[in-house]
Parts: sequence; C-alpha cells; structure tokens
Amino acid sequence: WALPDPEASGAASAGDPPLRASIARVYDAALGGTHNLEIDRQVLAQVRAVAPEVDDLAWSNRRFLGRAVRFLAEQSGVRQFLDCGSGLPTAENTHQIVLRTDPTARVVHVDTDPTVIAEGGALVAGDPWCRFVAADVFEPAQVLGHEDVRDLLDLAEPLALLQVGTLHHHSGDDGAELMQEYVDALPSGSWVVVAHFLDPGAEGLGPLARRMEQVFLHSPMRSGVFRAREQIAAFLPGLEIIPPGPGRPGELELCDLWWPDGPRLRPLNPVQQCIAGAVARKP
Ligand code: SAM
Repeated sequence: WALPDPEASGAASAGDPPLRASIARVYDAALGGTHNLEIDRQVLAQVRAVAPEVDDLAWSNRRFLGRAVRFLAEQSGVRQFLDCGSGLPTAENTHQIVLRTDPTARVVHVDTDPTVIAEGGALVAGDPWCRFVAADVFEPAQVLGHEDVRDLLDLAEPLALLQVGTLHHHSGDDGAELMQEYVDALPSGSWVVVAHFLDPGAEGLGPLARRMEQVFLHSPMRSGVFRAREQIAAFLPGLEIIPPGPGRPGELELCDLWWPDGPRLRPLNPVQQCIAGAVARKP
C-alpha cells in the first residue's frame, strides 16, 4: 500500500471536492461523525450490506483506544505519546484524554490524511505540548526522524506508541518488521498499543471477516486486512503484553473484552469479535 495521493483523501486542488473515499472519513462516518462525504458513506453502505453491524467495529476500536490511553496516562508513568494514524478529531481524542490526567504531557498525532492534519492542527493550535504531523506511519524512520516528533518528544525517555486501527491498512507482509523498527527505537519501559481487524477463523466467523475484507480491499480505500491472532501478535515483537483482565494471561484480546468499563450483560455480536487489541511494555 502506498501513500495516498492528494486525490485519495483530500482536494485535488483548492476548492475541488475530494474524489475518493478516505480511510479517515469512512471511519468518521461509522462513528456517526460529521466529517464525511457521500463517497465515504457509500463505502460504509457497501460494508453494511455484508455486515450490518459494521459500525460496532469502529466503536469497539475507538472505545479500546480510550481505555488504553486512560490506563497509560493514569498508571504507566509515561508522559509522551506518539499516536500513529490518529484519525479525524472526534470526541475523546488521545491528547484530550492524556492532558486531562497530565496537562504537561506531550502528544504527537501522525496521519497522512490532509483533512486530519488541517482539522487536528486547528484543534491543538496554541497548545505547546500537542502536534499533528503529516507522515507515513508505515515508515518508522520517516515518523521518528520527523522534526516535529524530535522537537516535542524525547526518544531517550519512555513513550507510548499507538498503532490503533492502523496496521490493518498496511497490506504488505512486512508489518512485523516495521513494528520491530519502532520497538528497537524505543527505550526500555516504553509501551505499544495495537488494535487490528481480526480474522477469527477458528471461532467460525472467518467468512464474515473475509466478506468485510473484500469490500474494504475493493473500495477506493484499497485497504483493510483481517489478520489471524498470531499475525497480529507478531506486531508486538519482544514486548510483554499486559493481562487484558483480572487473572488473565497477557495475550491479544477482543477490544471489547480488554478491561471493559463494566460487566458484559449481552454477548458480543459477530462484528465485535472481529477486532482485537493489546497493550504491551518493552522490558
Ligand atoms: N487511531 C484512531 C482510532 O483508533 O480511533 C483512528 C483510526 S482510523 C481507522 C485510521 C487512520 O490511519 C486514518 O486517519 C488514516 O488516515 C490513517 N492512516 C492510514 N494509513 C496511514 C499511513 N500510511 N500513515 C499515516 N496515517 C495513516
């Protein structure tokens, strides 16, 4: 998957409407946001045709992000966050959750979508501890070497690297290598958070995952791969996954079951069983 061209997610030229659906805007549409266009809603409608509950995929991911960031901000001691593929600013963005706990923590959001950079930049304008940076999160050297990242974050100090809802948009089979590059660059005591579309083949939901994948891959976004547990776990090389709940082993878990805010009274629907996440620490 290559960096989107300007047409893919922004205006072809100033004043022209975007020509293709974008990952950020389709995700925004699934979350019920207002930063999306008819072309984005059409993609979502195509996915809903094969998976009517697909909006829950976005919500499971987004709620997991919120709980994981709150946990890290309140308990890990880490005071700097690198939010890869931050998405369009909605409610409860990473920097808002972090700064509520620690007003002088530092947060750098990274995305390739020009709308994300423009809207996010406006949101944090005047805040010296937050930035929105345009870079390809599947190119670790580009992100880690970016002058704004270097300016705001001290890479010699532990930090939290978030890849939430991003790596399934990397179609290549070198995801583990690129994550290894990030992990190698992080000091001991750093944290990595991953959430990823899951192909729960063994649980009999493989056909549903593959139907959604086919729509995503054939949409103008051309990305959205559902991977098996082992493939997703490989994105956390050499890291200690923390238990996803009381008395549980440290392993990848469905996003909705990762330290939920309350008891689960209703079973997860099939779509909610197609996204998994983990929070892990570099020893
Ligand atoms: N992390 C947020 C969350 O979990 O709520 C947003 C996830 S959204 C599904 C994925 C985001 O990753 C989009 O905003 C998209 O523009 C961005 N993205 C996709 N590929 C990217 C790349 N190669 N480099 C930077 N951002 C990318």
